[in-house]
Amino acid sequence: MAELRERFWERYALDELTQQEWEALCDGCGQCCLRKLEDEDTGDLAVLGLSCRLLDTHSCRCSDYDNRLAKVPDCTQLTPELAHQFKWLPHSCAYRRLAEGRKLAGWHHLICGDPERVHRKGISVRSFAIPETEVDEADLEDHIIAVIPVEG
Ligand code: SF4
Ligand code: SF4
Repeated sequence: MAELRERFWERYALDELTQQEWEALCDGCGQCCLRKLEDEDTGDLAVLGLSCRLLDTHSCRCSDYDNRLAKVPDCTQLTPELAHQFKWLPHSCAYRRLAEGRKLAGWHHLICGDPERVHRKGISVRSFAIPETEVDEADLEDHIIAVIPVEG
């Protein structure tokens, strides 16, 4: 497997990264794997404290990453071409940060070398995410934890 280039996230644009570097950018927070409800009138997104059925709520990683797009139609494959749409991702997300010209956070594993820090800092969903399979569809609105306004 090819090595990651030194501090690649600072030295190369998102569309210049290798696939391995692109994947390594993910901080493993699992926030993008929380279910969302879209307001049909405003387009705003309500984020639920419920995780996609494929999310491992301890590691906060997808349990079937290779087949995720076939198994979960709503799953979005992040690519550099979609960087202009990253506003639906959490402010903390490494892809969104770089797309907006910000730096990686000090707790990011590429900076601190510790993949557990994202959990200890409470950035990840480990401490609260409930698998969506444990909740009745009729009760989804009871689990709204945030609303992401859609900016024009
Ligand atoms: S929100 Fe961003 S950093 Fe967090 S799991 Fe999703 S893609 Fe990775
Ligand atoms: S399929 Fe995997 S990557 Fe996609 S939202 Fe679900 S847990 Fe996240």
